[in-house]
Amino acid sequence: MSELVIEGLRASVGDREILRGVDLVVRSGEVHAIMGPNGSGKSTLSGVIMGRPGYTVTGGSVRLDGTELLGLDVWERAQAGVFLAMQYPVEVPGVALGEVLTAAANAGGRDSGSVAELVASEADRVGLDRSFLLRSLNVDFSGGEKKRNETVQLGVLRPRFAILDEIDSGLDVDALGQVARRVEDATTEWSLGVIAVTHYNRLLEQLHADVVHIFAGGKILQSGGPELATQLEISGYGEWAPAEPSAAPLEPDPFDL
Ligand code: ADP
Ligand code: MG
Repeated sequence: MSELVIEGLRASVGDREILRGVDLVVRSGEVHAIMGPNGSGKSTLSGVIMGRPGYTVTGGSVRLDGTELLGLDVWERAQAGVFLAMQYPVEVPGVALGEVLTAAANAGGRDSGSVAELVASEADRVGLDRSFLLRSLNVDFSGGEKKRNETVQLGVLRPRFAILDEIDSGLDVDALGQVARRVEDATTEWSLGVIAVTHYNRLLEQLHADVVHIFAGGKILQSGGPELATQLEISGYGEWAPAEPSAAPLEPDPFDL
């Protein structure tokens, strides 16, 4: 049983504070959903937990079984058991997914042959054609292929905790089902703990979310059971986050993948 404990987490981009005191505890096997309006800081939270560059942490802690992650490099956090499926996966020309996973698995003490088999079976599980394993990572992949590809990495790397930043964006209904089922299986296969950032109840139903958190203005405003997500679909975020004209997100349209 592992525990990811986030306490009083604050972070800025440039001189703008985005995270304003986030508290969250996720245990092995649990699925926590983070739902909130565009530009509220959900991807910032995901990136700060994983240690992506570009953010300045100004307070708080992120501990995995008592080990402070803040200050560690991304690879060290990955080695500690944290995985991030990015909202906008990075394209890496000249490097194929198969190579990346083999290198990672070798570093973790596994032999290349068994990794190749595992990668292929994980690809089959989420309906990603095996030919994608040989192509440059994410280059000219469709939105859905990128998300399936992230899910293959998750299945091969078997992290203790996965942060899924809008893993459902760009997926059609069938692909969403495959990806959600793979992640849901992982919560029992090796007790994966999940933080799932999403706008859609459909993913949460398929993942059997245990806790739903409403996130706005850089912090968690309310936490509850799955019924909170159902309520959100009806009422929107208005109650928690009155529309602010200055809060325009800089990110690209998630549907334009
Ligand atoms: P969400 O994922 O909830 O839509 P983000 O975490 O992507 O929100 O962004 C939160 C706020 O921080 C937004 O106003 C966004 O424009 C800003 N922001 C995030 N990353 C950067 C960056 N690298 N440079 C400038 N502003 C950023
Ligand atoms: Mg985002």
